[in-house]
Amino acid sequence: MKPFISDAPASRVVFGVGTLSDLRFEVSRLGIRRAFFLSTAAQRDTIAIARASISDLFAGDFADAAMHTPVSVTNAALAAMREANADGLVSIGGGSAIGLGEALALRSGLPHLAVPTTYAGSEMTPILGQTEDGVKTTMRDPVVQPATVLYDVELTLTLPPQMSGVSGLNAIAHAAEALYAPDADPIILLMAVEGIRALAGSLPLIGRDAEDVDARSDALYGAWLCATCLGRTTVALHHKLCHVLGGTFDLPHAETHAAVLPQAYAYNAPAVPEAAALLRKALATDRPAQLLFDMTASFGAPTALRDLGMPKDGIDRAVELIFKNPHANPRPLEPDAIRALLENIWTGQRPDAWRSRSMILRVGAVAGRVSKFWETI
Ligand code: NAD
Repeated sequence: MKPFISDAPASRVVFGVGTLSDLRFEVSRLGIRRAFFLSTAAQRDTIAIARASISDLFAGDFADAAMHTPVSVTNAALAAMREANADGLVSIGGGSAIGLGEALALRSGLPHLAVPTTYAGSEMTPILGQTEDGVKTTMRDPVVQPATVLYDVELTLTLPPQMSGVSGLNAIAHAAEALYAPDADPIILLMAVEGIRALAGSLPLIGRDAEDVDARSDALYGAWLCATCLGRTTVALHHKLCHVLGGTFDLPHAETHAAVLPQAYAYNAPAVPEAAALLRKALATDRPAQLLFDMTASFGAPTALRDLGMPKDGIDRAVELIFKNPHANPRPLEPDAIRALLENIWTGQRPDAWRSRSMILRVGAVAGRVSKFWETI
């Protein structure tokens, strides 16, 4: 076994069906007396339900959270939070609402309780992405990670099947990259395989019946595991691509992850045979890239970046940004290869099993050199 350091920042996690009824206890447990609630406009009603149970602890709300955490929105929420004289934050929703809670916690130091209703996983990480002037930047700080995360399966029943599918693939992407992260420890690898397995098994069931509580429980459990992997490891090409594409072209977050994952995985797989074997095991398939692509298509979600609104001339801009501030990656990044990869994702090309196999042979021939590179970064 390789030597490792396991350094795990922890959130308190409350998981179950109907756990929103524990909100009062959990908010009080954090010492919050004046809670400020955050959501997107679409989930204002969920805030109203939560608020009803703790009306005496309610200080105010802000229901304009937006994707990619625009700094202008954060500033408006910060002013409203101060005006309300709040001493704690409760975010309810997907990564947009929780990201806003994290941005406010970073600026105010107030305790933050997150109630996730998608599978994006922001709640289990010390990572905050913020967008200003069309540029998305990411930082890590332990203060960003919510003190308590309350997972209520019931709140996910309303997430539409297509959004559930792409959000689930967003979660799978976190664990798929953790499988080859240089700082993944053995517990991370166990969580990654289990998280992917739980999501891959439950998402098709949710596609058939969005109110299948058992499948929803499995999916939320898988999302928690995958998000924990994201919070504790270093990401590579897949997350870098999604970060650049989402922030630069304002593409929808989960849909972009779902479209990018099969091709980004196919790019790296030949350089990471052990991780690839774990992904095959987790997904119970010999062809993970094809299966992931077919899963996205099966939810009726776009598999092409052009269908998500990315202009074709954006490919050059994306390549430029990726190489402006390159991430470490197990397979070396080359501009021509990344441009070809982006062209394939832009047109929505299904990863080709035959080409993948021949690439494995070619890259396998230089595997020693690649793994040496990986060990040195
Ligand atoms: P989102 O939070 O924007 O939600 C998408 C839409 O679904 C919104 O309109 C929301 O109101 C709605 N919605 C959410 N839950 C619902 C439910 N149960 N029923 C009905 N509608 C529901 O999207 P997302 O994909 O969850 O999050 C994306 C954001 O999260 C991005 O800004 C991304 O950068 C961030 N993110 C951050 C991290 C991190 O570690 N920092 C990780 C993942 C995502």
